[in-house]
Amino acid sequence: MVITTSAPRQPGRLTKALTRMFMKHATVESVEPIAESFYWITLESAAFRGVAWTPGHKIQIMLGWAFASRTYTPVEWDAAAGRTRFLAYAHGVGPGSDWVRTLKAGDECDVFGPRASLDVSRLSGPVLLFGDETSFGLALAMSRLPYAGAVRVAFEVKSVETSERALAHLDLAAWRPLARRDDDSHLQEMEALLPGLARSNATFVLTGRSTSLQRVRQALKGLDVPATRLMTKAYWAPGKAGLD
Ligand SMILES: Cc1cc2nc3c(=O)[nH]c(=O)nc-3n(C[C@H](O)[C@H](O)[C@H](O)COP(=O)(O)OP(=O)(O)OC[C@H]3O[C@@H](n4cnc5c(N)ncnc54)[C@H](O)[C@@H]3O)c2cc1C
Repeated sequence: MVITTSAPRQPGRLTKALTRMFMKHATVESVEPIAESFYWITLESAAFRGVAWTPGHKIQIMLGWAFASRTYTPVEWDAAAGRTRFLAYAHGVGPGSDWVRTLKAGDECDVFGPRASLDVSRLSGPVLLFGDETSFGLALAMSRLPYAGAVRVAFEVKSVETSERALAHLDLAAWRPLARRDDDSHLQEMEALLPGLARSNATFVLTGRSTSLQRVRQALKGLDVPATRLMTKAYWAPGKAGLD
C-alpha cells in the first residue's frame, strides 16, 4: 500500500483530483501494538467493499499531501464489510515507521490497491518462506491457506525476543526467527536448510531485505532450483526508501 509523508505543504488541485481518482479513502478502525515496533492495523472503507484480493498482494498507503507512499501486505480482506488488516513493523527512521508509530483509531488515509505482488494463494507444499519482520504479515496470510501445514519459514530479525513475542501473538510461535548478524553469518544457517528442501521439490518464497534475498536466490540457483519454483519480492533495500 502507499503512505505519504508529513511535509507541511498543502495538496494542489491536481493532487487532490488524482487522489480522488485512484485512491480508496479509508479510516483507521484500530491500531494494536502487539510487541515493540509491531502494530496490527485495521482500516475500513466503503471503497474496500466488493474488491477482489489475493493473499500476497500489496497495498500502498499515501502518507499525506504528496505521492510518497509505503507498501504493506494485507493479511485479510473482508470485501463484504469493507475492512482490511495488516501487520506493520516500524523499523526505525522513515516516514512509514513514523506514520505507523503515531497512527490512532479515527485517523484517515488514502490507499492504492490492492495490487499484484506475490500470489501465494495457490501453492502446494512443501513451501519455504524466507523473510524478516516485514514478512510476518505474509506468513500469517499463508498460515490460513490450505497448504499451511507444509510451510516452513526462515526469518532473519533484528531482535529475536521481540519478534518471538510478535509471532506468539499471531499464533505463529512455532516459527522461530534467527538473529541477523552484521557479517550475515546467520545466513549460512538458513542456507543449510536449502539442499533438503530443493530435493523435495519445495517452492521458495523469498521476501524481506534485498541483499539477503539475493544471496538465498544465488544459493538456490547453485542447487538447480528452477525459476518456476521461485517467487521473489524485495520488501526493502539498505539505503533505499519506499520500495513498492
Ligand atoms: C510488496 C511489499 C510488501 C510489504 N509488506 C510489508 C508489511 O506487510 N509489513 C511491513 O512492516 N513492511 C512491509 N513492507 C516493507 C515496508 O514497506 C518498508 O519497510 C518501508 O520502507 C518502511 O518505510 P519507512 O518510511 O519506515 O522507511 P524508508 O524511508 O522506506 O527507509 C529508510 C531507511 O530504512 C531502511 N529500511 C526500510 N525498511 C526497513 C526494515 N524493515 N528494517 C530495517 N531497515 C529498513 C531503508 O533501507 C532505508 O535506508 C513491504 C514492502 C513491499 C515492497
